[in-house]
Amino acid sequence: YFSKLQEEPYRIEILRPDNLIAGTSLTPTTKDENPDDNFSTDTYTVGRYFEVTDHPIMYAKPDTTSFDVQGMKVLLDVYSPTGKFSAQDIKPGIEKMISAQKKFLGDINDTEKYAILLYLSDLQKKDARGFGALEHHTSTTVVLPETMQKAQLDESMKDVVSHEFFHIVTPLSVHSNEIHYFDYNDPKMSQHLWMYEGVTEYFANLFQINQGLISNQDFYDRMSEKIASSMNFDDTVPFTVMSENILTDQYKDSYYNVYQKGALIGMALDIRLRELSDGKIGILDLMKKLSKKYGKDKPFNDEDLIGDIVALTYPEIQSFFDQYVTGETPIPYNEFFAKVGLEEKSSMINTGYFLNGQVPYIDGDPVSGELFFRKGIGFNTFLEKLGVEGGDIIKTVNGTEYTIKNVYGLITSSQSWEEGSDIEIVVDRDGEEITLTAKASQPQVEETSITEMELPADSPKVKLREAWLKN
Ligand SMILES: [Zn+2]
Repeated sequence: YFSKLQEEPYRIEILRPDNLIAGTSLTPTTKDENPDDNFSTDTYTVGRYFEVTDHPIMYAKPDTTSFDVQGMKVLLDVYSPTGKFSAQDIKPGIEKMISAQKKFLGDINDTEKYAILLYLSDLQKKDARGFGALEHHTSTTVVLPETMQKAQLDESMKDVVSHEFFHIVTPLSVHSNEIHYFDYNDPKMSQHLWMYEGVTEYFANLFQINQGLISNQDFYDRMSEKIASSMNFDDTVPFTVMSENILTDQYKDSYYNVYQKGALIGMALDIRLRELSDGKIGILDLMKKLSKKYGKDKPFNDEDLIGDIVALTYPEIQSFFDQYVTGETPIPYNEFFAKVGLEEKSSMINTGYFLNGQVPYIDGDPVSGELFFRKGIGFNTFLEKLGVEGGDIIKTVNGTEYTIKNVYGLITSSQSWEEGSDIEIVVDRDGEEITLTAKASQPQVEETSITEMELPADSPKVKLREAWLKN
């Protein structure tokens, strides 16, 4: 950008081959000054530098479709290098999802035109440096590998685009000065990633239960997974401190937690608001109030947000923030679940000797080829009985040597171990050879899940749960 010209209007001219068209939520004026040269000029005008960055444009061979959702025009532009997927293929899933999102949001959203730009990458060319998506006020850009199967692509588009679309609410409509007057050279971060990313991610899950796209249990399972993955991070770091310092070495690896604990802060706040309002008000109502108070062109002061939220809701909400957002207290999830008639139950479930579903207990060293038990993870009942420790290098199993090369042989042979037969694993632990023995027995792991308490249908907890999930 041009220094000190961030707030000036910009005009962008793009000279393009006639066979490529622009996918964008902007409307260019097009001139073909020399019909013989196979080029045309597209001209875009925007109000300030931010709007330049806020309107991605994808030039590609025409593969575009559009549909209307309650007064909003949605454009879908797809670039698929081999032509494996077309905009028409992807349209039905996107249309269903965005309709549900619009219904969920109601009057908070008055976007007239929204563009979804999907770039499918040919992995051979290494044209994409990563996969994912980026939100803008009136568009989302998505980059995914073209090698995906159709069902996989639909699923990824559902999760990715719904998250990005909800960014219309925050940070796009509700954001602080740090974001509005973004310092492109020396970024200052806001304290409120719990809201920008966390509440957005929470909405991307809540709307699916609210609009009947998933079951209650699916929703609880998603929250339960978030709790489990948030436990890989320090649960006592105040989220506001982490957020403000997310670009520093100390905190940058915690970014993934904004989608985990950030979303759970949104969930706990939602439940608390429903409790205080006797079911009438939830976090979506709060976001509506905030976007009315602020909005796209009116940023807030970072330090004022929590006070404003308290003023717009209940005095009790102050202590929610003091404890769980700016404070060091971990969220007592079970207390929040109990308010809406949910409880955590744990049970033992069957698993494999070396694999728990898709997740292996062992890993291989690509250099030495050695197989070892992974560090920092919990083992199944069999490996615990055997006395395995994280970091143990596998030498032999029942007399057979194993390395990366024949690891599949190890997995397959373990599947036919007879219950009660003798198993002997020789491992190298810190340079010392140790023989571990146990009788083969069905390995199990503890699984905790969130389930509904058995309560009469007219119980206040059941009513609060209904208000939370369905209102
Ligand atoms: Zn996001």
